[in-house]
Parts: sequence; structure tokens; C-alpha cells
Amino acid sequence: MRRWAAAVMGLLTAAASGAAASPPPAPAHGWHLVPGSVEPNRGPDGNSIFLEAPEGLILVDTGRHPEHRDQLLGFARERGRPIAAIVNTHWHLDHSTGNGEIRAAFPDAPLYATRAIESALAGFLADGRRQAEAALAAGGVPPEREAEIRRFLAVMAAPDTLRPTRPVRGSAELAIAGRRLRLNVASFAVTEGDLWIFDPAAGLLIAGDLVVAEVPFMDTACPEGWRRALDEIAATPFTTLVPGHGEPMDRAAFLAWRAAFGNLLDCAASDSSRDICIAGWRSDAARFQRPGREAMIDRMTGHYIDTRLRAAPQERARYCGPPQER
Ligand SMILES: [Zn+2]
Repeated sequence: MRRWAAAVMGLLTAAASGAAASPPPAPAHGWHLVPGSVEPNRGPDGNSIFLEAPEGLILVDTGRHPEHRDQLLGFARERGRPIAAIVNTHWHLDHSTGNGEIRAAFPDAPLYATRAIESALAGFLADGRRQAEAALAAGGVPPEREAEIRRFLAVMAAPDTLRPTRPVRGSAELAIAGRRLRLNVASFAVTEGDLWIFDPAAGLLIAGDLVVAEVPFMDTACPEGWRRALDEIAATPFTTLVPGHGEPMDRAAFLAWRAAFGNLLDCAASDSSRDICIAGWRSDAARFQRPGREAMIDRMTGHYIDTRLRAAPQERARYCGPPQER
């Protein structure tokens, strides 16, 4: 009797939840892009990518702002599938701030990332935290910036949300949530340890910030290591590449972007003027830049020429090897 009742109750529950409980079947090699954003005077959000997997959704990168997080949780809800694993392409907070809240909603999801977060927490992010606290203490931070700074400090107060539960120590082919992926580690490129992902069955390559459509973000970069990582990507038989910021690219578009990146490094290493290098980037990468953003792109390119590509030798080398005592 009790068994019968349980069976009926089971049927009733299934019927009551109806269509919502049976989402459309996962396309075998399906993926879905939740675009990030890059806007002046606001921290960017990186692109996030969902990969359909036998055991649920794999989420690559979790954005920065609450609006981006809401889109990620909303997609999983719409699909009616759990987030079964998270991968961070790199520790930059426009790709990882959402980790904590996504993992709170899906506590069983492991986090795959390199261990580069550890020296970032001890160096770059510790400096950022001190600067943020000083800025708030000094007052005068505009309200829209203040919310972003407080969100940053909340992550700094919970750094375990950034630490991998499945550290990726070297390139390897893995089944993540039942989907076979090749995780590739690029050392000393955008960060001390970047991951880029190749899905052979889908011909899909997820590049993280090794490819950023409008301007490569060089804050923690080793430019020559980055150039080598782009050569490895070029040697991979992908048909579609999703950059860290910007729209998906085919192979020809990626090769054009890589050439523009190489030209920028070569220009910065030459006697050419700063303005010529900026103009060169803008013209070489014009197809990746949206109208109306010229001033922002020039400003950012100039900033990276000054602070990284043409910085003093010690500063240029700062992110090109194991962190030095400071
Ligand atoms: Zn980014």
C-alpha cells in the first residue's frame, strides 16, 4: 500500500511539474554564448560560454557584474539543467567574480582552473584591494563605481571562491561532466597560467583573453608568452573561436587578429612613435572594433604601450616568470 502510494505520488509530482521538468534534449555538441561587455568607466564582463554535457551544463567563465550572473543563472533555469562544472580561463575578475554565487547555487559543480590565482592574490589583487580600500576611505567615489568596488572587496574577503577545486597543472584531455575537452595551459601569457579549451567534436575553441577583439588587455601579461600561445592556437584545427571579449571568430578572422597582435608588439619594440603604434593597431584590428569606440581603444592601446610594452625592463619582465619577492 505504502509502495503504491509512493508510486502514485511520484507520478503526480512528475505530472505536476509537467513540461518544465523535461527540457529539450541537449544538442550533442551544443554551446551557447552569454556575451560580456566592455564599456568606458566600468569594469568589463568577459564572455561566458555554456557547453551542453551529458551530466549538465559546463559553464566557462562567470563574469563580474550581478546582471551577468543573473543571465547565467537564468540560462540554466530556462534549460532546466544543472551547472555541472565551471571552468575559469584565467583569474581576471571579469571572468571569475560570479564563481561564488554560481557555486552557491550549484554546490556540486567542481571548478577547473590553473593555480595562477595564488600569486595573483598575493600580488596584483592584494595591491588592488589596498587601492580600493583607500579610494573608499578617501570618499568621492561615484555611486556606480562604488557598487563595483564593494563587489570586488567582497570577493577579496572570500578568495576561496576563486581557487580551483580541480587545479589544472598542465594541458590534458579530460571528460568534464561527461563531455570530452582538451584543456590547454598557456604559461606566462595573459596571466601566469591561462586555460584555453578545445572541443574537437564541435570544432570549437574557447580562447579566454588570449583573444580580446578590440584591445588585448595586458594588465598582467607577458606579451612574448602570449604571442607563443597564439601560435599554438593557430596550430589547432578549430572552426569557431570564442574570444574572451567580442564576437565569435572563424579561422580567417583569428589569423587577422593574431597578425594585428604581432604587429603591435613589433611596433612597440621598434623606434616607431607611440602614436604610430596606436594607429597601426586601430587599422590592423579595425574589423573587430565597433564604431564610436575609437577614443576608448586608442586610450587603452596607449596605456598598454606605456605600462607594459615600453615599460622599464624590470616591469616588462614582471609577469614573464615566477613572481619575485617584492
Ligand atoms: Zn577579460
